[in-house]
Formats: sequence, structure tokens, C-alpha cells
Amino acid sequence: MDLDLSPDERAFRAEARAWLAEHVPAGPLPSLETEEGFAAHRAWEARLAADRWSVISWPERYGGRGADLVRWLLFEEEYYAAGAPGRVAQNGIHLLAPTLFDHGTEEQRARVLPSMASGEVIWAQAWSEPEAGSDLASLRSRAVRTDGGWLLNGLKTWSSRAAFADRAFGIFRTDPAAPRPHQGLTYMMFDLSASGVTVRPIGRLDGRPAFAELFLDDVFVPDADVIGEPGAGWRIAMAATGNERGLTLRSPGRFLAAADRLVQQWHASAPAADTALRDRVADAVIGARAYQLFTWASAARCAAGGRIGAESSLNKVFWSEYDIALHETALDLLGTDGELADGAWSEGYVFSLAGPLYAGTNEIQRDIIAERLLGLPKGRR
Ligand SMILES: Cc1cc2nc3c(=O)[nH]c(=O)nc-3n(C[C@H](O)[C@H](O)[C@H](O)COP(=O)(O)OP(=O)(O)OC[C@H]3O[C@@H](n4cnc5c(N)ncnc54)[C@H](O)[C@@H]3O)c2cc1C
Repeated sequence: MDLDLSPDERAFRAEARAWLAEHVPAGPLPSLETEEGFAAHRAWEARLAADRWSVISWPERYGGRGADLVRWLLFEEEYYAAGAPGRVAQNGIHLLAPTLFDHGTEEQRARVLPSMASGEVIWAQAWSEPEAGSDLASLRSRAVRTDGGWLLNGLKTWSSRAAFADRAFGIFRTDPAAPRPHQGLTYMMFDLSASGVTVRPIGRLDGRPAFAELFLDDVFVPDADVIGEPGAGWRIAMAATGNERGLTLRSPGRFLAAADRLVQQWHASAPAADTALRDRVADAVIGARAYQLFTWASAARCAAGGRIGAESSLNKVFWSEYDIALHETALDLLGTDGELADGAWSEGYVFSLAGPLYAGTNEIQRDIIAERLLGLPKGRR
């Protein structure tokens, strides 16, 4: 793998840096877990899209730049180094869009992708159910055939930002008689404002209302909103999760920028004699660099025609545990001021605690690593 950038790649990086320097909001936007923050982040998505920075790796006809993964990684590094806002459109961009590229129809891509790129339509992921998280294939929400489409019934939960999102994508049981639980599932898109959908925010400790459960009562989904063949939903949904865990959900740019902030924090507030803390800061920098290299290697493999496989579980366990350690180090540096001095660290810490759960729990990722990468025998479940 050649780690030197070409002149074109360096020019691209400079163009992104210049654009971000001019356009990134001066201060942090309000939390995207609130109605006000959601609207502000949606407006930011529109600003990015207006100059075609929102989805650079997509084809131009859907609002992208047709950029390769190297440019995507460079953009991410510049994006986070510039202190740009978190992406409210990420579920759609990182999970639904790759699915539509691989399994959708041209009509679906042309209809769904441009408004996703511009932030006009924000998507929520509706996979989990109260009895179907780690064991997702046991999901019970069903879709029954009706004239011109399907009727959805059931309950989805833990849907990030669904309280303010516009549409959702999920998998539903369409053939309850199928011999195995992950057969007979179908991937569908639906409107969160459709008749029969009730969105109920889930109370969070911080009182922010964006996380939600979705009650579905005879919700009509037209055939045009079914992705792929009915019954093939499991295979289609799983194809996107490797991408999410392994490459797109937590870009190394985010951790490189956070590690830089941590080093600044060290210079500003640490007693030089505290070598234990100093070592943890150094570990954070090394971790960010290691993660950067691992991601570059994954990108190089994809660019050479490969796909991200079970090794995405290694990435997922790494970034989720790294994120917690990084934030704990920052809070230990700040000491008793941690709650007050810099809200970003304490907020980031609380969010990092969810990392080992979302995008598939780390226990499940470790099972995948043991069985598929190390070839160990299947555990008893
Ligand atoms: C912040 C956050 C955001 C989320 N956003 C979304 C979203 O937008 N859309 C969505 O659909 N879902 C979302 N989720 C849900 C998430 O995907 C689930 O929480 C996760 O899959 C775990 O499922 P569960 O909560 O039902 O826990 P369970 O599956 O009940 O697991 C409980 C514990 O048991 C362990 N466990 C379970 N089975 C095994 C096993 N076989 N071997 C070893 N250990 C096991 C788990 O690892 C875990 O520690 C989100 C969750 C969080 C925390």
C-alpha cells in the first residue's frame, strides 16, 4: 500500500480544507438530539450538499463527486480537524444508501438519494425490537400483503433520532412459516408521518427526546418501497452492517481530531509529573494512528475490489473501547472541572458508553471474531 498522496489527492485535501475553513459554524450547534439542534444540523447538511460535500463518494447524479475511498478518508480527516458538526444524516448515508446502491432499483435510487444527500429527508434505522436486539433475526414486526403493497404491524425500538426524522428503513417478517428465523424477512422503507405510525420518544437521562420507539398499526408501504426481493431482507440488511462497523460509522478522522484535542488539554491542564496520565494521552494518540492505518488498509482492500468482511467486528470493538478510554482520560485530566469546563468531553463520554452496544454489541462482535476470523468452535447459545 502506497501511503504517499498523489498531487491530485493533495489538491483535493486543500480544496476541502479551504471550504471547511470558510463554512464550518463558528461555535458548536445545539445537540442534534433536540428539535432545535436537529433543525440546525439539517440546515448544515443542506449547506454541505449545496457545494457537493455531503456525500462525496456517491455518483454525481445523486449529489456526490464520484470520489474514491482515499478522498473520502481525506475529507473525513479535514472535516473533524475543522471541528465541523456531527452528521444528522448518517443513518441514511451509511446504512440505507449502500443498500440501495447494491440492491435497490434505479427508480428508488433516483427518488431517495438526492433528498437524503441534501438533508431534506432524514432517515431513521428501524431494526431493533424489544425482544430482538442481538438476536435480530427473532424480530416479530410483520408485513402482510395487501393491494399494491404491504401493511406493517409491530413495535420497533431504540431508533436513533426517530423523533425528528422523516422516514425509516427496517426489516419485517413477511413469511412467518419460513423454516428459519432469518428467512422470510423483507426490507422496506416507510414514512414516519404515515397513518398508523406513532413515534414515542424514549426518556433519556439528559432529557433529550430524539431516541424513540415506533408503534406500527396497519401502516401501508407501497411495493415501490420494498428493497430487493421479498424474503431476502436478512441478507440485504447484513450486507450493509459490515460497512457501518468497519469503515463508515466512526471514521478515523474523528479520533485523530479528538486525540489532538486531548494533547492540547494535556498541555493546558496536566501536572507534568503525572506520568501515568501522560502515558494514557500517548496511548490515545497511538490508538488514533493505529485505527487510521487499519482503516486505510480496509479502504485499500475495497479499492482493489475486495469487500469488508468479518474483520469489521475487530474495528467495531476497537473504536468503541478506544472512544471510552479517550474520554475517560480527558475527564481525568480535567478533574473536578470535568463536568463544567468543556461540555464536549462530558457529553462525549456519556455517548461513548453506548458504543459497545449500538451497531451490534461487543459480545456479539467477539463471537464473530472467534468463530469467523479465528475459526474457534461455535459457542452455545
Ligand atoms: C445509543 C444507541 C443507539 C441505537 N440506535 C439504534 C437505531 O437507530 N436503530 C435500531 O434499530 N437500533 C438501535 N440501537 C439498538 C442496538 O442495536 C441494540 O441495543 C443492540 O443490538 C443490543 O440489543 P438489545 O438492546 O436488545 O440487548 P440484548 O440483545 O438483550 O443484549 C443484552 C446483553 O446480553 C448480551 N448478549 C445477548 N446475546 C448474547 C450472546 N448470544 N452471547 C453473548 N452475549 C450476548 C449482549 O451483548 C448485551 O450485553 C441503538 C442502541 C443504542 C444504545
